[in-house]
Amino acid sequence: MTELIPVCPLCGGGVVKQETEKIIRVGQDVVILKVKAGVCQHCGEKVYTKETHERIQEIRRELKERINELKPVGHTYIYGAGI
Ligand SMILES: [Zn+2]
Repeated sequence: MTELIPVCPLCGGGVVKQETEKIIRVGQDVVILKVKAGVCQHCGEKVYTKETHERIQEIRRELKERINELKPVGHTYIYGAGI
C-alpha cells in the first residue's frame, strides 16, 4: 500500500487522511463514493494513493453495469444555471 504524500502538491499544506465523498457521474445518475483520501488542511485539495486512484477507475467501470443494484438515497437537482 502506497503511503499518502504528506504535503499538498498545490500549496505545500499538510495532508491528513480522512474519509471523504467522491461524486461519480454515471450517465444521468450520480453516485457518492465513500473513499479515504489525504485532504490538504490548507486548500482542501484531495490526494489519493495510486491504489485508491486505480480502484476508483475500476469502480467507475463496475458502476456502468451495476448501478441498478444500488439503493437511491435522494434526488439530484440542477439549479442556478448561468451564475
Ligand atoms: Zn493545499
